[in-house]
Amino acid sequence: MSENIVVSGIRPTGVPHLGNIRGALQQWVNLQDNHNCFYFVADWHALFGLEERSREIAENTKKAVATLLAIGLDPDKSTIFIQSHVPAHLTLFTIFSAITPVGWLERNPTLKDMVRADQPLPYGLLGYPVLQAADILLYKGTMVPVGKDQQPHLEITREIARRFNNLFGTDCFPEPQAVLNESPVLPGTDGRKMSKSYNNVISIEDDKDTIVNKVKQMITDPEKIRKTDPGHPDICTVFQLEKPFVDGTYSADIYQRCTEGRIGCVEHKNMLAEIIWDYLRPKQEKYFYYLEHEEQLKKIVDYGDKRAQEVAQKTIEEVMDIIGL
Ligand code: SF4
Repeated sequence: MSENIVVSGIRPTGVPHLGNIRGALQQWVNLQDNHNCFYFVADWHALFGLEERSREIAENTKKAVATLLAIGLDPDKSTIFIQSHVPAHLTLFTIFSAITPVGWLERNPTLKDMVRADQPLPYGLLGYPVLQAADILLYKGTMVPVGKDQQPHLEITREIARRFNNLFGTDCFPEPQAVLNESPVLPGTDGRKMSKSYNNVISIEDDKDTIVNKVKQMITDPEKIRKTDPGHPDICTVFQLEKPFVDGTYSADIYQRCTEGRIGCVEHKNMLAEIIWDYLRPKQEKYFYYLEHEEQLKKIVDYGDKRAQEVAQKTIEEVMDIIGL
């Protein structure tokens, strides 16, 4: 077990999908064997992002926890908890709000994508990188799994840690390092990045027929009309979506058969739907099991909340002592 403390969160903004599971969440599972991991459902962030009503957030929070368990996170290895159940997140957020220049937040490159044209910019949305800093530093996180597009957020966390340490003459907070997620970004059924906001996802709740239908509608190489037409897998979403679920030999074989006109798109789509279903089905069974056994789910969350709370409380006591309150 390394000394590293890994911290990461999932926002409960809908039903988790294949892109989440095969991307960031798979990395969480890989890290749990060798690191001290804190994984939380970021319900405050869902509220701050104005994406959901609070009742939906509560429902999606359960679904997020069920997904984390279904994909293989072990509550004895990883601390799995809900952000709003540990009040210290907001305490540290408030303290960091006092020392974070607004200019840092206004420079946040993803802010403009999150602002809605029909609403004024809420203070919470401007300040969400400060809450993220609190989320990570509350557990003295040293490693944060991130996708390439999230690196600027971590930079603000590092700046806040540095500023706090400098202002109060302490080494209380580490400057966490990014652990880049090497998994490819999965394309959705329309070829764009798989994302709830594009409505192009294969979700953990989709049954086999739904998956078959979604894959059937995917656009392939427009020049490949008949099986015998030579195709171009490099521009084909079916080929790209399949890659992370098969080995290199399989992929190379499909590539060759497509370019030589020895496989048709209908046949290949059927194969892909089977591959996705084989991958998703065991996870889906566990997912629905946990949703149907709410008591068990609650016990696991209570256990994680308590473990998180103990660490968070220690940090807050240390911070209050440092700032003299
Ligand atoms: S055969 Fe497969 S890889 Fe080739 S264009 Fe059709 S779906 Fe894409």
